[in-house]
Amino acid sequence: MANPTPPESVATSTASKSSTPNRNTASNAQISPKPAAGAVSNPHKVPPRACYLSTHVKIEVGSKKKIYVIHKDLLRFYSDYFRGAFSGSFKEAIEGKVSLPEEREAVFDIFTQFLYSRLLADDRDEKISWATLVDVWLFGDKYLVPSLQNSAMDSLIKKIEVDHSVPTHQIKKIWEKTLPSSPLRRYLLEHTAYRLSASSFQMFENHWTREALVELVKTFFDKEDTKKYVFPAREKCYYHIHKEGEKC
Ligand SMILES: [Zn+2]
Repeated sequence: MANPTPPESVATSTASKSSTPNRNTASNAQISPKPAAGAVSNPHKVPPRACYLSTHVKIEVGSKKKIYVIHKDLLRFYSDYFRGAFSGSFKEAIEGKVSLPEEREAVFDIFTQFLYSRLLADDRDEKISWATLVDVWLFGDKYLVPSLQNSAMDSLIKKIEVDHSVPTHQIKKIWEKTLPSSPLRRYLLEHTAYRLSASSFQMFENHWTREALVELVKTFFDKEDTKKYVFPAREKCYYHIHKEGEKC
């Protein structure tokens, strides 16, 4: 993935530049999962009214170039990527438009719904598939939207507990697109270590990559002393991404 320029540092530049997402990929390592500067990380925090009165910008998504028209300050409230893209002299800020040809419409639909409702569709009646839910988390990682990631994480945990299954078919993609400290990796590893039986694990053992298996072994070494199949007590934000001292 292309490397970004920190939004604030180019605000005074006179050249028209294009912004690109900026963190948390395996190739663009940042060890801490802490969110970038200013984006809200609590999904329940209400955006200021001014966000809904700001000008609109266009986001062009996917190979079919579907256009989404969204309040600019709402995007800036939730995402440090969009805060940067729509600031200063970036080409996107001047044109009021960002193109995301690699992203899926289904994921951006959920992101848009989240922007205006602070909810994921999965919180209601519409069920989101494992693959899409993981993609929503990864989208939040790429575009610096911690509150979206935290909502997606809550939905994933709920889905795993309700379905009594782990999305092992997503492991290869998750390990390719996240860093070892990623809360998404940590939850899948710990759920497997604490809650799964050996026979359940073996049913899908071929889904585990070597790197994921090594981390799984480490997770077993680090296990807390709990009863068999019992998860240790975890606070609500344990698998969330927040700045120091911040909580949901
Ligand atoms: Zn939280």
